[in-house]
Parts: sequence; structure tokens; C-alpha cells
Amino acid sequence: MHATTKLSDDLKYDLIVKRIEERGVKLEEIAEITLDLQKKYLPELTLDICMDHIKRVIMKREVQHAVLTGLELDILAEKGLISEPLSTLLKSDYGLYGIDEILALSIVNVYGSIGLTNFGYVDKLKPGVMKKLDNKSPDKKEVHTFFDDIVGAIAAAAASSVAHKYAESEAVVKAYEKEA
Ligand code: MG
Repeated sequence: MHATTKLSDDLKYDLIVKRIEERGVKLEEIAEITLDLQKKYLPELTLDICMDHIKRVIMKREVQHAVLTGLELDILAEKGLISEPLSTLLKSDYGLYGIDEILALSIVNVYGSIGLTNFGYVDKLKPGVMKKLDNKSPDKKEVHTFFDDIVGAIAAAAASSVAHKYAESEAVVKAYEKEA
């Protein structure tokens, strides 16, 4: 029999939020990207609602594991504890490395194809706080190679969660009602 001991969800959530904030990003800044992604479809959407969905995303185990893994690699690279050639790939945020985006996909995958679309969009535009993290200058001290994608993926996943909850178009609702 496996042990049935279970970590409380609150404990895990608090740890992940702490790790994100220690790397210089507040959840509100991620929620702002979510609001930006969804407000054209839902004009009444508020930052508070987006924050609720950010929290919901961070409660998911897949998301927590991606955050723990990505941030750890950024921190190890920053401290010079990763061997070459990976060290240089991570420190320079090499464009063809690509594993940072792959890790972030494990976050948006939870929300299906709409998550993927939203992530592709923020990955290209790097809105809000993502821009600050996406610093490719060679003399920078911080490494955010994984973190910028993690932030974008959490924002995109929350936007998808909002869409799944609110964005049923009137036409679709009517079509279902007609057939019901
Ligand atoms: Mg990156």
C-alpha cells in the first residue's frame, strides 16, 4: 500500500506563489496579461476575476511541477551551476533552445487548443511583465529563460479558463437551446 499522506493544496499553492514572487513577478502582473487577452471578448471582465483564474491555474499539479522545474533551472544557470553547453544556452536565452517553450506547454495543455492559441499569442508579443523578463543582453545577471514562458503560459491558461467559463457566444447558446 502507498502512503496516503497528502500535502495540503494551500501549502503547495503558497510555495509556488512565493517562488514566483521571489523571481520578481506579482500574480497581479500575470493577471493583467490575462485581462488583456480576454477583454476584447468580455468587456466586463475585471482584474479580480482574472486573479481568481490565475489562482485556479496555480492550484493544478502540472502547473506547479512546471514552475518548480523551470525556475530551478533558471536559478542554477544564474549561479553558474550548470555545465556547458547548456549553461551558455540558458544564460544567453538562445532562441533555438526551445525547451523553455516546451515546458510551458505542459501548463497550457491543461486547457486544450484554446490554451495553445493564447500561449502562441503572448509568446510572440511578450506583453506586460513578460517584456521585462525577456532580456537578451549578454551582460545581464538574471536568467529568466524559463520564467518568461512560465509567466506567459500561466496568463494564457487563465485566459483559457476564463473563456471556458464565460465566453460561450450568444449564437452558440441559442443553437443549443433550440435543439434541447
Ligand atoms: Mg524563454
